[in-house]
Amino acid sequence: MMAKVFVKERKARPFWFGHPWVFSGAIEKVRGQPEPGGIVELCDHAGQSIGQGFWNQKSQITVRLVALTHEGPLDQALLETRLQRAIEMRESVWKLSEVTNAYRVVHSEGDGLPGLIVDRVADILVVQVSCLGMIPFLDPLLASLEARFQPRAILERPSRVALEEEGLDRPANVMRGTLPTDSVELHEHGVRYVVDAVEGQKTGWFSDQRDNRRLVASLAQGRTVLDAFSYVGGFGLACAKAGASAVRCVDSSEPAIESVRKGAELQGLGALITADKANVLRSLDHDAQEGRTYELVIVDPPKFVHKRASLARGLRLYYELNLKAIRVTKRGGILVTNSCSQHVLESHFEEMLTSVAKESGVRLQEMARGGQSPDHPVTYPLDESRYLKCRVLRVI
Ligand code: SAH
Repeated sequence: MMAKVFVKERKARPFWFGHPWVFSGAIEKVRGQPEPGGIVELCDHAGQSIGQGFWNQKSQITVRLVALTHEGPLDQALLETRLQRAIEMRESVWKLSEVTNAYRVVHSEGDGLPGLIVDRVADILVVQVSCLGMIPFLDPLLASLEARFQPRAILERPSRVALEEEGLDRPANVMRGTLPTDSVELHEHGVRYVVDAVEGQKTGWFSDQRDNRRLVASLAQGRTVLDAFSYVGGFGLACAKAGASAVRCVDSSEPAIESVRKGAELQGLGALITADKANVLRSLDHDAQEGRTYELVIVDPPKFVHKRASLARGLRLYYELNLKAIRVTKRGGILVTNSCSQHVLESHFEEMLTSVAKESGVRLQEMARGGQSPDHPVTYPLDESRYLKCRVLRVI
């Protein structure tokens, strides 16, 4: 019989509404002996069934609630329905294939498929699994993805979250097809990029910034641009293509910088773009010392806050980075600043920017704000899945 997990009194409320994370602290008792990764029934204090989820005692999130009782049992058919719904949202609702061949097909809890991420990167599907319970269901889901996208290869890449939070150590693995031996070319809103889906960062491409890249490119015409933390030139190449007068990309990763150059050459933008392998903080200091400024500055750093406990320290880092970025933004110019740390809330981010403005003696005028692109959906209730913050600020 399926094991039952009882939630403590007064802790069940979010789960009735479908919040998918049951932390160990919310659990009162367990009846039966759930297998690691097995399916359990989640019940409230009084024994009423809330729904079914995946059990993993090794994880801080001991149960991942997947299906509320009225949604039916947690089985292959339910997960398949969710996969089809996820594909439909990208394909027929947003029609993403018309503007790009690189987007997120499945976004974990955001699509009701906990611990499963699938990114399409041109003709490769890159998969990350961070929930033990998902593994037995994976193969048929991959078969559906293969039938729909006919990728050249499906590649699984290890996920840091999986290892840290679930104790799930899965090596990189070609699950279907064969990998290309050289880099992959993708396109987004008419701009071409070169990435390495096998060795590159995350799953090779940051599709969560797609809409923000487009917005920023629309402001780039005739401006000098600094794309700091450029990776393969996501913002920088889009700005160059949109008519920027000069673009400088800075990233600490040599392969990323190499990809910026290749991408620039590919579309005749080589003369406009400089790509430097450097530490952004040092590079900003150096520019400031030389009195060099740019009319459009983009800073898109990696995640600074990995857990709530390091929020204050992380905010300090964002503060220092943005202070430096303002020093190299020409007065009247534009600063585009980002944070992908889930623990940094919009209000934290804005308070930090207010301190930056005060310290540097400028006014910041909000021109636009952005978040993660809609192929990274936030579902209710799971506000924790909202992570990307983007501010487009006029520096006056
Ligand atoms: N803006 C990019 C995504 C940036 S991801 C896009 O639109 O696709 C963050 C990047 O920061 C990574 O490429 C990483 O190599 C780089 N990075 C991390 N720390 C850095 C540092 N101190 N200096 C320069 N680059 C850094």
